[in-house]
Amino acid sequence: MHKLEDTYKMKGLRLRLVKELKSKGIDHEAILSAIASIPRHLFLDKAFWEWAYKDQAFPIAANQTISQPYTVAFQTSLLDLKFDDKVLEIGTGSGYQASVLSLLCKRVYSVERQEVLFKNASQLLYALGYKNVRCYYGDGYAGLASRAPFDKILVTCGAPFIPSELLVQLAPGGKLVVPVGQGEKQEMLRITKSAEGTFSKESFGDCAFVPFLEGVDHNYQRSKQKERVILD
Ligand code: SAH
Repeated sequence: MHKLEDTYKMKGLRLRLVKELKSKGIDHEAILSAIASIPRHLFLDKAFWEWAYKDQAFPIAANQTISQPYTVAFQTSLLDLKFDDKVLEIGTGSGYQASVLSLLCKRVYSVERQEVLFKNASQLLYALGYKNVRCYYGDGYAGLASRAPFDKILVTCGAPFIPSELLVQLAPGGKLVVPVGQGEKQEMLRITKSAEGTFSKESFGDCAFVPFLEGVDHNYQRSKQKERVILD
C-alpha cells in the first residue's frame, strides 16, 4: 500500500469538489462534509492522484472503477441514512463509497466479488480508521445473510434484475438503492419495504455502472502473482 499521505493541496481540491457537487444539486450537508474529509486520492493508484478530486470515475484494479463523486453523493442521498442504520453495500470496489457511508451511519458491511479489491479495500479502510466498516469477499447476489436484516442496502454495480435475496434481507421500513437494467445503461431505483413487508418502487433516472456479475473472481490476483514470479 502506498504511504497514506494527505496534504493541504488535496484538502483544497476536496473543497473545490464539494463546491462543484453543490452546483450540481447535492445539498445534503452531512454527505458534503464526508466528501470534504475523505482522502479520495488514497483510494486510487498514485498515477491518478493529480485528478483524484475531479468529478469523474477512474479505473481501479481488476478492470473495475471507482464511481464518480456525484454518483456516490447521489446514491448516498437516496438512502436517507440515519445514524443508527446498519447498511449493506454490494460492490466494495476501491472502498471509497463505503468510507462515505461509514461517516453517516452506525455500521457498514460491504461485499466484493474481486478478491484483489476486497483485500485492498479492507486494508485501506482499516488503516484510514473507518472502523465501523466490515468487508467481505463473496457474491453480492446472495447478500450477506449472516448479518441481515439491513436498514439500507446500496448496490454500486448495474444489476440486470433486482436480486431477490436483497429484498429478503431488507428490514421492514428499509430502503434498497439499485441501478437496474440490461446492457450498459440502467435506471436508478429505490425500493422501500413497508412495515407489512410489501414493496414500493421509485425511479431516479438513467445511469451507467459496471455490471453486477455472478460468482466470485480471484483470477486477477492469480495472474498478477504469476507475473511476479516470472519477473523475480
Ligand atoms: N463502490 C465502489 C464502486 C465499485 S464499481 C467504490 O466506491 O469504489 C462496482 C463493483 O461491484 C466492482 O468492484 C465489481 O467487482 C463489484 N461487483 C460486481 N458484481 C458483484 C457481485 N456479484 N458481488 C459483489 N461485488 C460485485
